[in-house]
Amino acid sequence: MHLSGYVSGNGARRQRIGVMGGTFDPIHHGHLVAASEVQHAFSLDEVIFIPTGVQPFKTKKRSTSREHRYLMAVIATASNPRFTVSRLEIDRQGITYTADTLEILAKTHPNADLFFITGSDALASILDWKDADSLFSLAHFVGVTRPGHVLDATGLPEEHVSLVEVPAMAISSTDCRARIAEGKPAWYLVPDGVVQYIGKHGLYLGVDVE
Ligand code: ATP
Ligand code: MG
Repeated sequence: MHLSGYVSGNGARRQRIGVMGGTFDPIHHGHLVAASEVQHAFSLDEVIFIPTGVQPFKTKKRSTSREHRYLMAVIATASNPRFTVSRLEIDRQGITYTADTLEILAKTHPNADLFFITGSDALASILDWKDADSLFSLAHFVGVTRPGHVLDATGLPEEHVSLVEVPAMAISSTDCRARIAEGKPAWYLVPDGVVQYIGKHGLYLGVDVE
């Protein structure tokens, strides 16, 4: 896939759409900086945040309700005109696979090139994902740096993967949940509106934060 502006058959510029998948339990500034940096680096028209339904690798873990995770993503992205949030995965039943999601997006956005954004921890496991081979024909993969994880595309097809260094944000949702359960502040780790939403609904107060 070529990475700079090319033109479709009718002369219209093809759309460039970033896809940021995640549990977003809760969404935090690490997710937002990654999406913003890749949006800029790849001149993306839009970045779609897609909160997961049931994730293949997280089935045994407790996860905050889909609606809470979706709404926190909406709150966190509302002020950025290039960011949107999709209900595609949370409205589906059963386990959600990235390959299925990308296939749906490719069908619903036939004039767009898709760029799947992923942190270095998730990039390392892509070859274990369902339909790993087809993933690379559906989207260009953009791996971003994440503190504590080595960014390495070894074994992945070079022409379909780019690596981008983003400002280091040593934040994880797991840590945010643990902090809130311990009564520590989450201010400045997640957007203000998300801190307020978490407080309003009493999220993450339980001890089962993993
Ligand atoms: P959890 O601790 O619950 O796994 P998380 O912080 O890893 O949460 P996810 O929703 O699992 O967040 O991640 C969604 C995507 O965002 C993944 O591709 C992940 O690698 C990436 N990501 C998460 N946090 C960061 C960060 N601080 N910097 C860069 N990328 C990140
Ligand atoms: Mg994670």
